[in-house]
Amino acid sequence: MTLAYSCPLSGDADGGSKQVNASNDPVLDADVLRKRLHDPAAVAGALGLMDGARRGRRSLTVRCPFHPDRTPSLCMAPSRRGGWVWICFGCGLRGDEFNFVAYLNGLDVRMEFGKVLAAANLVAMRLTGTGESGDQPSPLTQLSAEDFAVVAGAVLQRARLAEAADVVEYLRHRGVLAEAENAGVGALPKDIEAQEQLLIDVADEVGGDRLLRSGLCGTERGFAWASNRILLPWLDRQSSIVTLQRRSLDNVEPKYVFPSGRGAVLPYGIESFRTSREDQAVAIVEGVIDVFALRVLNRRHGVDRLVIGIGGARCWQPEWAELARGRAVVVALDRDLAGHIPR
Ligand SMILES: [Zn+2]
Repeated sequence: MTLAYSCPLSGDADGGSKQVNASNDPVLDADVLRKRLHDPAAVAGALGLMDGARRGRRSLTVRCPFHPDRTPSLCMAPSRRGGWVWICFGCGLRGDEFNFVAYLNGLDVRMEFGKVLAAANLVAMRLTGTGESGDQPSPLTQLSAEDFAVVAGAVLQRARLAEAADVVEYLRHRGVLAEAENAGVGALPKDIEAQEQLLIDVADEVGGDRLLRSGLCGTERGFAWASNRILLPWLDRQSSIVTLQRRSLDNVEPKYVFPSGRGAVLPYGIESFRTSREDQAVAIVEGVIDVFALRVLNRRHGVDRLVIGIGGARCWQPEWAELARGRAVVVALDRDLAGHIPR
């Protein structure tokens, strides 16, 4: 994407890329700068972006400087790292505070990070000049469980398994399609533009700040880990979604990813305990697809057994042992099982 932008710091009306002079006050440590730039409203103010801005509970939505934007569509929200993240629901650009400064100055954040820091330093100096750097750091922004469930539900509603023929074919090939359908599995579209549209629609429904803080968005277009397209909702005992894991098709690494900051706190399949008999046996396997596969096998062979999944032997939490009290337990963490197709 090409960005023509007139830099508000230099008064340059030409736009385009420019060299940034860092010689005045070179505080070029990324962590120090992130702290100085912690308040999106102060940064937006220093950059002249507060005209027409809308404040949410934790977020700020401004007119996007990267595309012609009559109504504010760029949402900035505090991140867990102490800085902030942003996404524009008009043009699809997104990132953190350094990406923002990089785009403003026509810099490549990966190739020219030194220049980006220098440009960020100029913004920080301007904050000091306006006396706005004394603001308290933004509150931590881990999304509540209820809010995450709302976001995940909105994603699943739009990411229908039936609409992704290749995912359907993959699950059918693994012999677990019906099981996946029962478990509410969804599928992201393959096309990044379609993923982007899905995110925009979800943001419309649940709010941009909730989507940003869900850990599902990446720093590029579409979802973080855009090729991990199989959506696997993990539920708690009350069948509320606690996280939304995603698996890649075939065995593209990483096979399984969780939303940023929202890993497995419970085994997969824990909701099945609510309706189980107290003495029903339990099998513990690795990975959600293996849970499906073993459930299919159990049913086929008349085995009466609950199946739950964990991310691997190292993900085991000692308190989960309570789940097995009074039950026979089969632990199958052998990697060889992972590739098997139930027959
Ligand atoms: Zn934009």
